[in-house]
This record gives sequence, C-alpha cells and structure tokens, in this order.
Amino acid sequence: MKCALCGGQLEKKTVEEEVLWGKNRVVVKVPAEACKNCHERYYAGGVVDKLIDLRDQLEKKKVKLHEVGKVFEASGF
Ligand SMILES: [Zn+2]
Repeated sequence: MKCALCGGQLEKKTVEEEVLWGKNRVVVKVPAEACKNCHERYYAGGVVDKLIDLRDQLEKKKVKLHEVGKVFEASGF
C-alpha cells in the first residue's frame, strides 16, 4: 500500500493517539501505517471504531488509567 496523498512508502508502526476526554487527554497506542514521506497516518480497520469505543468506555469509567503527565494552565506571566 502507498500513501494516498503523496505516493510515499508506508511503514507499519505503533503510534500514540490522543483521545480527548473532557479537559483530559488519554494516550492510547494503536497499530497504524505511517507515510515515510509526509507522515500521514493510516489506521487499520477497526482502530477508529476502537478509539470511539474507548471514549465511550471512559465516560463509563470502565478503563484503567495511569497518569503519565499533567496538563497545566499558566496565568500571570
Ligand atoms: Zn505521504
């Protein structure tokens, strides 16, 4: 398979995708193919559904999360 945008070579890899959950971001690793040239990502079938499903599961608090960082808001500088 080649990149639909630029015709570049695709490379199978695991990428980190962010799912927004309220003001939080949940990082999830998913399999994808990324273009070596323009870095466009192509997800395997079902991955997009999984990400949507994940957000659903987050709402229901069915997912175990571990903290990897915090998001802060800065003011007064
Ligand atoms: Zn490309």
